[in-house]
Amino acid sequence: MQHCLCCHDKLLKHVVHAQVYWYCPTCRERMPQHSSKIETLLETLVQAEETAAAPKKEG
Ligand SMILES: [Zn+2]
Repeated sequence: MQHCLCCHDKLLKHVVHAQVYWYCPTCRERMPQHSSKIETLLETLVQAEETAAAPKKEG
């Protein structure tokens, strides 16, 4: 079961033209299928933020 990234509500599975979509009835948004690619992208962003937030070593 997929959950909306915005409201964490359950997503409804839609198949349109052989493409799988997830529809959030709460947001009324159709979302692309969540994949490991998105999770990897989010991890990359988090790591980038952590890197940016880390104090710089000077000297
Ligand atoms: Zn939602």
